[in-house]
Amino acid sequence: MLFHDRLICRGLGWLVGSAALLAAVAPAANYSRVCEPEIKPAFLPLPPGAVEPAGWLRDWAMAARDGITGHLDEYHPTFRDGWKGTSIAAPGAEPNGMGWPIEQCAYWLDGALRLGFILHDDALIRKIRARLDPVVDGVHKADFGTSLIYWKKGYKPEEFNGWAHSQLGRALVALYQGTGDKRVLDALVKVYADYPAKMGKLPLANCQVTGLCNLDAMLETYSLSGDRRILDRALAAMAQPDVVREIRDWGDGILPPGHMVVIYEDIRLPALVYPWSGDRLQLQATLGAMKWLDDNHMLPYGVASGEEFASGIGAFRKTETCNVTAMLLATSWVYRIQGNGDWGDRMERAFFNAGAAPIARDFKTMCYYQSPNRLRADSLPCEQPHSPGPAGTHFHQLGCPSVLCCVGAVNRIIPNYVIHMWMATSDDGLAATLYGPSTVSAMAGPKVPVRVTTTTDYPFDEGIRMKIEPKQDVQFPLYVRIPGWCKQAEIRVNGIPLPIRPDDKGFVKIARTWSGRDTVEMKFPMAPRVLRGFETEFPAADRSYFRFEPAAVFKPRRLPYASILYGPLLFALPIPDIDPNTPVDDARWQYALDLQRCEGITHGDARENETVPVGPVGVAVERRIMPAHWDWPLDAPLRLTAPAQAFDWKPSDSQALPDRPVAGATHETIRLVPYGCTKFRISMFPVAAP
Ligand SMILES: [Zn+2]
Repeated sequence: MLFHDRLICRGLGWLVGSAALLAAVAPAANYSRVCEPEIKPAFLPLPPGAVEPAGWLRDWAMAARDGITGHLDEYHPTFRDGWKGTSIAAPGAEPNGMGWPIEQCAYWLDGALRLGFILHDDALIRKIRARLDPVVDGVHKADFGTSLIYWKKGYKPEEFNGWAHSQLGRALVALYQGTGDKRVLDALVKVYADYPAKMGKLPLANCQVTGLCNLDAMLETYSLSGDRRILDRALAAMAQPDVVREIRDWGDGILPPGHMVVIYEDIRLPALVYPWSGDRLQLQATLGAMKWLDDNHMLPYGVASGEEFASGIGAFRKTETCNVTAMLLATSWVYRIQGNGDWGDRMERAFFNAGAAPIARDFKTMCYYQSPNRLRADSLPCEQPHSPGPAGTHFHQLGCPSVLCCVGAVNRIIPNYVIHMWMATSDDGLAATLYGPSTVSAMAGPKVPVRVTTTTDYPFDEGIRMKIEPKQDVQFPLYVRIPGWCKQAEIRVNGIPLPIRPDDKGFVKIARTWSGRDTVEMKFPMAPRVLRGFETEFPAADRSYFRFEPAAVFKPRRLPYASILYGPLLFALPIPDIDPNTPVDDARWQYALDLQRCEGITHGDARENETVPVGPVGVAVERRIMPAHWDWPLDAPLRLTAPAQAFDWKPSDSQALPDRPVAGATHETIRLVPYGCTKFRISMFPVAAP
């Protein structure tokens, strides 16, 4: 034991622990921790590895293993030498093994370890453990008060290195949860029991990263270990006057448009502390900040713009791949705490669209930036990105070879989605929180092992079939999420239709005794929806960062656009590619969507980001069988045809979309495929005039 004052918490009151007292505490729910907060989170996460991908999702995860995720240490010293405590021949390296490489390498170690767990791939787990175990050993050998950067005696990392430290903390939490190795938890306790409460603030404005991002690894370590010193430090960190002042504004939707990865990482922190502090303003701060993102920077694929700074809404605005990872992580925390199915809808939209587009089909190259429309690889056609430079829009084995954050962070996308597909509930049930083909093995009811096999081609099909196999007959509630976009869901249990009565969080509860022969079949009928909104100006507050842009882009603008959604998928007009950096020469893409010919569209001014369902007249659906092996093919199993008008569209640096609906063009029908299947595309269209 590292400490003697082990405490057992019951809510916010504290009891000095002992084995006898542990037994006196009310029976814990499955997957509850040593310490649970007074405000119970809606869901209890399952350990990594409980959910295993199947079907098309397994094909994609295996491509990650055989591509970048499984081999990144062979590509660059950042990943070969990070966290070894030696100097690293890499961009942004500080003497003595710190700086950029330990941030970027931690992203990869965390993602690759989690991928190893979800695939039950012992070789990959061993490879990453060979990198993490020396950190655990180093912490154990160091004096009390060390950090994960154990090779610097008595060092408490600040700012950038504090941020990098937080990323490795998450990898070690996953290592403990996936293996149960107590030495790993003890190392985390040793580090976080003495972590300074002044670990950082929340300055969103100037791209300042913060060590406050250690809070999630700290709170996980606390709930898994019960060492009260860790909670005290976490709560004190959020109670710093500057932090309290900053997040008060977030609840009112007032945030500076700073660096988007920092924004996504930071805005989740108040909600994360809320169950422990009981301060509802903290939850409101996170929710207010999320709404601010929706209103000001959200792109149709479900992740905000960030080049690297927040860059408003626009057809050629870019999203750094780190933001796809950060969005999924931030949203999974809010989902876990609040339990609203809407967060599941958001995660699916980001994962199925923005998760796939910046990764090559073979997972051997990736791109630092994606954007709703992409015409060429050298530019978009607008400006070269200020940061990380021209290579930011090019697919490469290292993403952008001079800045390696995204090629590290990309490895977290698939496993973090899969891990959160199922979660436990405090009434010993299981909740289907995100959809896709999978098998979950978990305890339900009075700790009875249950396997649920989900067979589906979702989101490329509407049907989902679950086979529930408990080890013995057992009663427990199964919660299934009804996607917010689905208006006529159907559920059958053993073939018998169930009335659809979602609770206020969007879940249907199926409470029964499960016998091992039970099936739950669901159908989530999808209908095309048109998302209408306006391209906005670049944020004036970021003008000095975006100084290479024409002055015109900072002037208020409302350029109408429309996009088409179907279920959780965004659809795009594909520009066929020869490879991820080379589009074919002769593709036609100069189209405006002709909403006049879409049933259900009413005319007049669209509101900002308004989503309107459209009937079968106008947008038609074509389905084909799924390919035997999934690699996000352009020859997609699901296609839409939509009415459009061809016109002479010449997007420029200063103006990507026409200022108003275009007129006088020829009528045509265009065929769209899922955005994630494209490498070059149009998914934010100009709008044709009535
Ligand atoms: Zn990045």
